[in-house]
Amino acid sequence: MNISVVIPLYNEVESIGELCQWISRVMQQNKFTYEVLLIDDGSRDGSWDEVKRLSKENESIKGVRFQRNYGKSAALSQGFLLAQGEVVITMDADLQDSPDEIPELYKKVTNEGFDIVSGWKKKRHDPFIKRRTSKFFNWATRRVSRIKLHDFNCGLKAYKNEVIKAIEVYGEMHRYMPVMAKWAGFTNIGEQVVKHYPRKYGKTKFGLERFINGFLDLLSITFVSKFGKRPMHFFGLWGTLLFMIGFAIAGFLAYEKIFHEVYKMTERPLFYLGLLAMMMGSQLFLAGFIGELISRNSAHKHDYIVADKSGIISINDTP
Ligand code: UDP
Ligand code: MG
Repeated sequence: MNISVVIPLYNEVESIGELCQWISRVMQQNKFTYEVLLIDDGSRDGSWDEVKRLSKENESIKGVRFQRNYGKSAALSQGFLLAQGEVVITMDADLQDSPDEIPELYKKVTNEGFDIVSGWKKKRHDPFIKRRTSKFFNWATRRVSRIKLHDFNCGLKAYKNEVIKAIEVYGEMHRYMPVMAKWAGFTNIGEQVVKHYPRKYGKTKFGLERFINGFLDLLSITFVSKFGKRPMHFFGLWGTLLFMIGFAIAGFLAYEKIFHEVYKMTERPLFYLGLLAMMMGSQLFLAGFIGELISRNSAHKHDYIVADKSGIISINDTP
């Protein structure tokens, strides 16, 4: 199969019929074999009935329904689990992304060898405040990840199948798919200017909290990728340093007390600083140590990604 289109949807009953028609038209014109995976993220507006109707009409359309609203990342992750196409394309359900971009995206992945091609909504139809904060986010993400993309959070993206099977989207990490892909070793990341439309039906599903959450996610993704596998290198280092500073201060105070007979230690700010530094230092050290134990005990399926499976001999195969 050439293409899997993964579409997360939450209360988008008016749009999905139109969107599916548009997708099928594009696919037929280009003679692609394809599947459309509609992931209903706990909609309450009859979207699921619409999905069922659509999948009855067209066998390329498949649906999954969540019991409740888990968020866009969860929906994408479920879609990725099922996607069988050689190229996997994600797009929003609200008709803001155009299926007309699919052939070009597909070509870029198959012919030009990109692992990911991310859409770039050069001319956006979103409210002013969102465009501004988005600019800042993209700048910050570019700085942290060193990936040269203009628009990280574009819903319209194309991936090689092995890319989406290798990375895990949790929390609200859908904003940072290219970053996670890069850290998983898929560095060939491209960009394509795509058309963007104003929302035709319904309203946006993300409120103001998107900005705070987005920022926190950027912090945690940076931190986890740098120190997730070796917490001691962060906590241990700063813990030891802090403790040593505190110890030096305590030593100095003790020296003064013994040899210069300076009393009233507890009235000196330095005394408290030393105490604080030693306590914080040992806590940081402990946090690092516990983190190290945890990471040692958790066998994680996405720890290592094997690039070329052809040479592997399974242990079970040996006689
Ligand atoms: N979405 C989802 N679960 C959620 C929120 C959003 O599956 O909890 C879907 C939504 O239906 C749409 C896409 O994610 O297909 C993007 O959402 P939206 O258009 O509201 O975001 P915006 O365009 O405002 O960034
Ligand atoms: Mg939208």
